[in-house]
Amino acid sequence: MKITFLGTGTSQGIPIIGSSHPVCLSTNPKDKRLRVSVLVAWDTYKYVIDCGPDFRYQMLRAGCETIDGIVFTHEHSDHVLGLDDIRPFYFRQGDIPIYAHKRVLKSLHKRFDYIFATKNKYPGAPTVITNRIKNKPFKLKNLEVVPVNGLHDTLQVFGFRFNDFAYLTDMKTVTNKEIKKIKGVKVLVVNALRIDSHRSHFNLEEALQFIDKVKPETAYLTHISHLLGFHEEIEKILPKHVFLAYDGLEITI
Ligand SMILES: [Zn+2]
Repeated sequence: MKITFLGTGTSQGIPIIGSSHPVCLSTNPKDKRLRVSVLVAWDTYKYVIDCGPDFRYQMLRAGCETIDGIVFTHEHSDHVLGLDDIRPFYFRQGDIPIYAHKRVLKSLHKRFDYIFATKNKYPGAPTVITNRIKNKPFKLKNLEVVPVNGLHDTLQVFGFRFNDFAYLTDMKTVTNKEIKKIKGVKVLVVNALRIDSHRSHFNLEEALQFIDKVKPETAYLTHISHLLGFHEEIEKILPKHVFLAYDGLEITI
């Protein structure tokens, strides 16, 4: 299985438009972060987790010309607003499968009413095949995916386990029962927004405590704000098996 980090930034991305914060002015490419998303590929299959506002550019940058579907963690704009840009995939491949909690599907229906229209549909609009996820394992082709339930402030959010890979973003609270589902995975990806605490995201300390509970072989931090600091400086203070993800990073599991 190959994981490609398409974006590792928080909702505004880094740099933030108009910001003169030193991290936003950094010339290190690892400090430039598009909105958070990963491409998960195995055998001949490719699935994207979330498709935020940078989706089009992320697909071009990763050289990704086909997708088998999109799996959504939740409905916030930094995770869904690239949905219109599935059009090139739809034109070539046909209807695109999407997987989400029923509340997220409802939100997508509202925001992208033309995609879900059943009458007088505009011919340029893509069509999706909706798959509702509940908090129980589901299949993507030949692979069983295990959802991991968490809270983003008070909003329910899904993380996902694909065999030895677990991806959790926008989490602030995860119960021990849910943590059990991912204990000992080889690779864990988890959100770490910044140094100071935040009401809906793990800060660095909380992310490291979470990693201690899950005990993966290796962990990567994502959904990063400029307020976490420079990539190079933060990597120096992390435990040996924990790394900051960066855009374009590829890992094979
Ligand atoms: Zn987010």
